[in-house]
Amino acid sequence: MLLKTLREEVLEANLELVRRGLVLYTFGNVSGMDRNEGLVAIKPSGVPYEHLTSADIVISDLDGKIVDGKLRPSSDLATHLELYKQFAKIGGVAHTHSEFATAWSQAETPIPCFGTTHADSFHGPVPVTERLSASEIAGDYELETGKNICRAFASIDPESVPAVLVAGHAPFCWGANAGAAAHNAVILEYVAKMAYHTLLINAESRPLARELHDKHFLRKHGRNAYYGQVKTQ
Ligand SMILES: [Zn+2]
Repeated sequence: MLLKTLREEVLEANLELVRRGLVLYTFGNVSGMDRNEGLVAIKPSGVPYEHLTSADIVISDLDGKIVDGKLRPSSDLATHLELYKQFAKIGGVAHTHSEFATAWSQAETPIPCFGTTHADSFHGPVPVTERLSASEIAGDYELETGKNICRAFASIDPESVPAVLVAGHAPFCWGANAGAAAHNAVILEYVAKMAYHTLLINAESRPLARELHDKHFLRKHGRNAYYGQVKTQ
């Protein structure tokens, strides 16, 4: 079986979305990429999670050509591939229709950073895309969705803000691998829910001060991170 370990990682990341209550029925999909091989492993389309095995995971190249797997890939494959092409350092993509993050997507409203829980994972508000045009929807819709996401990141580092709200649709998240992408999808949903409640309690709630936002993101990410235990090789 081609890319057995990657398939297992991608299967596990998909199942994590189920365990965390982020998906209904067959909604959602996670993929992972092996950058050395230039291949992507993604959930098949429409297979119930409880029946999913690593052998069902579909392997595609970056052009969307299926190189291994008997099933059809997730219909969102072209969106995932565009993100892998444009965001050179990512190794995993997760897409869900999780309740609160999707509500923000439908409201076409970026999620402000109201607290350190958000700042620990996202260095800035979680942006929302523009709407797709009628011709983009009629054309290669999934590819255009990927391009649309990349346009929203023209001046944002995708490693610092590993999530986006697609207008009228739902979130896409990413990370260093499939597990990290699924993890970010779980955190995004938690942050989206808390931001909603924050505004319900006080509609005038202010975003976190820049200094505290920076402090929390940078102590966990980047060159000067010091959160957690020192990793030994
Ligand atoms: Zn979707």
